[in-house]
Amino acid sequence: MSLNPKRTIEELKELRALTADDNGAQRVAWTDTWLRARAWFESKTKGVPIEHHYDAAGNSWFTLRGESEKALLIGGHIDSVPNGGWLDGCLDLLAGLEILRRFATEYNGRPPLTIRVVDWADEEGARFGRSLLGSAAFAGKHSIEADRGRTDKDGIRLEDVLRRCGVEIDRFPEAEREQKNAAAYIELHIEQGPVLENLGLPLGVVLGTKGVERHAITFHGQEAHSGSTPMNVRRDALAAAAKLALEIRSIAGKHPDAVCTMGSVKTFPGIVTAVVGRCETTLDQRDLSADVLAQMYREAQDASARFAAEEKCTVEWSRIWNIEPVPFHPRLVDFCEQAVRETSRACHSLPSGPLHDAAEVARAGIPSVMMFVQSLKGISHNKIEDTREEHLEMAVTALDKLASKTAQWILNK
Ligand SMILES: [Zn+2]
Repeated sequence: MSLNPKRTIEELKELRALTADDNGAQRVAWTDTWLRARAWFESKTKGVPIEHHYDAAGNSWFTLRGESEKALLIGGHIDSVPNGGWLDGCLDLLAGLEILRRFATEYNGRPPLTIRVVDWADEEGARFGRSLLGSAAFAGKHSIEADRGRTDKDGIRLEDVLRRCGVEIDRFPEAEREQKNAAAYIELHIEQGPVLENLGLPLGVVLGTKGVERHAITFHGQEAHSGSTPMNVRRDALAAAAKLALEIRSIAGKHPDAVCTMGSVKTFPGIVTAVVGRCETTLDQRDLSADVLAQMYREAQDASARFAAEEKCTVEWSRIWNIEPVPFHPRLVDFCEQAVRETSRACHSLPSGPLHDAAEVARAGIPSVMMFVQSLKGISHNKIEDTREEHLEMAVTALDKLASKTAQWILNK
């Protein structure tokens, strides 16, 4: 039998029935529901001549051996956030399974190259705040010492939870072995944003994942009585922060895909009868270009100093976290665009704001690319997350075309 995208949709619905409740998907990594979802997925591979094993980081590998040991990798994640959607992560995985079946059937169980589908462990980081846990270990970018002591909201340690699932965090480096013979990596994902829907396009090519600069910015002024302190002598830390919150729009606005967000503002003493003496804020800046990211960071620093001076305040910055942009492989981006055009005629290329496992795989030096399928209303990580079924079918078809083109490229290399 050839590729059957309708089966992917049926299986997504089956998984939803098995692992969702009235509030949405509950496949949080390392929980019983997640283990049940994984066992269900493995049961779906019965009848396909594959080998299955877990690596040292708990990633689940399904390998269809081919004439060549060189392997095409197709990835996804069956874990979800609490109250999550029915497509995030598992669409990628079930599309990968359908392609695995297609290769197995077309080549009588022995394709010209090896095809591997991987279910990454704990992509979401929903329980312990550590995203891309399994794919980072695969890429050799694990952070064992920082992660082992992480606790969930009940105080249970990550190290202990992993052990219950048969994963020893100290053995994470062994997951790097799976890189052997990995020649390329492809991943399908829902967009989780509104861009493709606004353009009226079902599918898009992802150019890479945006780099992130994330900082804590604190403005210091002077606490003062709100009744007795004249306006012209105030040193209002919130006023300086508020100016910055508006300025980041024009800082981001110079670049087509850049985003800047001040997501948190805390005022001290934070009472109705006091001028704000201290204002703690956060800034998150993202772009696919490292130069743009550096420029936006500089401009935000300059602006914060200017506004602090205007309000007779001072400002200090401290970095919370950052990651460099990860552009995808130009050849694979080309193949992805061809595959999308052959399936839906029009195509749009866009960067991904959210991080994905593909970013870790690309960071390991393996040529990688992602394809997006439209998300209705741009909503994800929520039970109302949805995509038209005709678009889901097109996505499976286009990913299959991308797999064929990439396979041919691997064999010709
Ligand atoms: Zn996802």
